[in-house]
Amino acid sequence: MGKACTHWQDEISHFNQSFFPKKINIPECIMALLRAIYPTIDWSKVTFYDRLPWWVTSGTNAITLPAGIDKIHIYFGTDEYDPCACRKVGIIVHESCHVLQYQQTGPGFGFARPFMMQYLACSLIYAYEDIPFEVEAYDIEGDFIKCYCDDKYNIRFPVCVCRDDNPTFDRVALLDFMNNCGNSLVKTSSSVIYNCGQFNYAIGIILSLLITVLKPLVSLLGFVLGNIFYGIMAGLACLFEWLGISCAWVTKVEKQCSDWATSTRDDCTQYRDDGYNACSEYKDNGYNACSEYKDNGYNACNEYRDDGYNACCTWWPCSWGCKAWYWVANVVCVAWYWVANVVCVAWYWVANVVCVAWYWVANVVCVAWVTVVSVVCTAFTWVLKKILVCS
Ligand SMILES: [Zn+2]
Repeated sequence: MGKACTHWQDEISHFNQSFFPKKINIPECIMALLRAIYPTIDWSKVTFYDRLPWWVTSGTNAITLPAGIDKIHIYFGTDEYDPCACRKVGIIVHESCHVLQYQQTGPGFGFARPFMMQYLACSLIYAYEDIPFEVEAYDIEGDFIKCYCDDKYNIRFPVCVCRDDNPTFDRVALLDFMNNCGNSLVKTSSSVIYNCGQFNYAIGIILSLLITVLKPLVSLLGFVLGNIFYGIMAGLACLFEWLGISCAWVTKVEKQCSDWATSTRDDCTQYRDDGYNACSEYKDNGYNACSEYKDNGYNACNEYRDDGYNACCTWWPCSWGCKAWYWVANVVCVAWYWVANVVCVAWYWVANVVCVAWYWVANVVCVAWVTVVSVVCTAFTWVLKKILVCS
């Protein structure tokens, strides 16, 4: 199996794990530590999970959420749960403070819990880290880390003895820790008093009820659509790799597209400029032809008149009538060629305008076409790169 094929299959299982996160069995050493810090929490209602719910943004390291009537679930992001890393024990202490807050504010149904309502209400007016519930949790997390860890975040009191995947409990280390830091750390109740306003509380109630009702539906929809999406991506990735389509090939196609676009755009411009020249040549030739036709015409008129004068009878009034005739004929003839010349020039002028307009429009269509094709090509190669997980 190729790299992308494997990648998307892993994505499918990660995605589904976020719907059915694995339970974590918290080792006794961490539970003892938590019981010492939060002696009033009912831990029988609390479950720990490895993996965040699918709808939580990936930057989150952990989240504490209500379940059922009085149950509480703590979810950890990938690699965020570690009882042997000092700062990550701090995350467990932080989330446990939210458990205390949940239990102190009382039960409810689904997300419609007093804690959730108050938290949502406060999040309407405070930035995340300024929400009173978070201020309290970050305070105790900070105090805990200050005492439990040294300057380099090594554990100072190895309550968990970490030799393998199953840390063991060192009771003496816990006593030592509590003797050193217990006074300021032990928390029997949350000191947060709701002060985010009655109106916001009402919105918090509405939001938490909405989440309670909509979450199952959205989850189901997300589950189905997510599996369809990842399934298609995995299917295509495996198929493409089987067909021998590689990132290098996509990059080559991408380059071909952009080369083609550049050269075709140049062709469009060339075609337009050649066209403009042809139009102008046609016009100039036309003007010359008009003027030649006119000059020849004038000569012919004059010749006809002069020949006529010569052939006229010599006696009056015949000579007078004859000359008058040829004079008028000459004026009509000249007028004819003058008008013909004006019409001729106008014709070539209009023809030139139409010709230029044609090449201008053709150029616009040509450039638009190249743009559309290159956008389609870029989109196509972008999708291919995503599917093949090209960097
Ligand atoms: Zn928090």
